[in-house]
Amino acid sequence: SVRVRIAPSPTGNLHIGTARTAVFNWLFAHRYQGSFILRVEDTDLERSKAEYTENIKSGLQWLGLNWDEGPFFQTERLDLYRQAIQTLLNKGLAYPCYCTPEELEAMREQQKANNQAPRYDNRHRNLTPEEIAEFEAQGRKPVIRFKIDDSRQIVWKDLIRGSVTWQGSDLGGDMVIARMPEKEGDRFGQPLYNLAVVVDDIDMNITHVIRGEDHIANTAKQILLYQALEGKVPEFAHTPLILNSEGKKLSKRDGVTSIDDFRKMGFVAPAIANYMTLLGWTSPDGEEIFTLDEAATKFSLERVNKAGAKFDWDKLDWINSQYLHQMPAEDLLPLITSYWQEAGYQFNLDTDKDWLLEITALIAPSLTRLTDAVKEAQLFFNNDFSLSSEAQEFIHSVGVKEVLEQVIDSLNEDLTIDSANVIIKQITKDLNVKKGLVMRSLRVGLTGELHGPDLLQTWSLLHQKGVDKNRLQFVL
Ligand code: GLU
Repeated sequence: SVRVRIAPSPTGNLHIGTARTAVFNWLFAHRYQGSFILRVEDTDLERSKAEYTENIKSGLQWLGLNWDEGPFFQTERLDLYRQAIQTLLNKGLAYPCYCTPEELEAMREQQKANNQAPRYDNRHRNLTPEEIAEFEAQGRKPVIRFKIDDSRQIVWKDLIRGSVTWQGSDLGGDMVIARMPEKEGDRFGQPLYNLAVVVDDIDMNITHVIRGEDHIANTAKQILLYQALEGKVPEFAHTPLILNSEGKKLSKRDGVTSIDDFRKMGFVAPAIANYMTLLGWTSPDGEEIFTLDEAATKFSLERVNKAGAKFDWDKLDWINSQYLHQMPAEDLLPLITSYWQEAGYQFNLDTDKDWLLEITALIAPSLTRLTDAVKEAQLFFNNDFSLSSEAQEFIHSVGVKEVLEQVIDSLNEDLTIDSANVIIKQITKDLNVKKGLVMRSLRVGLTGELHGPDLLQTWSLLHQKGVDKNRLQFVL
């Protein structure tokens, strides 16, 4: 059965690229009733932090990307990697390399002078026991290198990119799979990325490796390691990069990189998950709004594009608005209260609950992001009421003053939408003016604006807080 994994390195908060890779892996696992595994690649001890692991886990959960197995941590699996390195050494497929940083630097300088691409020239591949003894006697410590023959051709059928071919000579020479030993008596030190990934993918019976196309060269190297370790080579699928509006790889400079940034900007989790599904994939039926579960029923790697996926803010906004517009007020209110609180709006979540739910339902159709709730609900919370410039101009129109005076006279304790309607009709009749004038006057009197959400509901909500009379009088 299908087994896929997401293998983030906890060197930063959950990154959008990682999250999108997680989405594709999750969809693929669910499409084929397989397993989605979380593996934390924390072998870089200097840069890995527990708080990043927490951020990645909570971010994945927030998006609805629950894992079936794990999290596994590479730092808890070092023995497995050491065994694999030992196996490669025993088989003669890996060897200790005693080059000093200075020697490697001189080698690169020479290559540069000859207009050659930088690579390790495999100079310690065939050291004699005497040479090794000599280096050890000098106190040198070796890294372990895995042999990569220049003549090797590495071919795989990528499930997104089709047939991919790499030449061994393009992989930079024999690759380092373990650092220098740190402890006296150790033959080698910390196992490195490509080795650890392959050992884990073999051990976890990973069937499909779905990851960003920036890993293509690693895939070529890793295939050689699978073969050397006699593991079954999985299928590979390299997803397109996420690009900014200029067609460059989306980066810190584009303002958002972590999923937290999107959350803070007022995007809701299902909208982000939905949008990320569309970053490179299109649904066979052209549908663009779907839950992860819905998308999983139709997901396939064949429909993932090879070309980079342009990040489109307008599209993300549109998708987010679709989710906000159809969300029940009971679900939406808890998502917007923190933004209201941050804006300093005063309310009591218990005693004002119904009033807040009505406001939420009223403004929901105008929201693109949750942050819009601050501006859209301002008129209900903001006590320093003022008129917009067009409203200012409007109140000098003929008849406005009379309308507002009569509204104030008609106010009663228990205003309802029905009784408000009756008042408006009565004024229209009494003053012999158009209903439009009455409505506009009332809106300006109550909200200070010429445009806004449903007027009668707005009035009734303001009336419940007893602020309608004051505002009307203020305008007069
Ligand atoms: N730790 C790697 C990354 O975060 C994982 C790559 C892979 O999926 O093998 O890019």
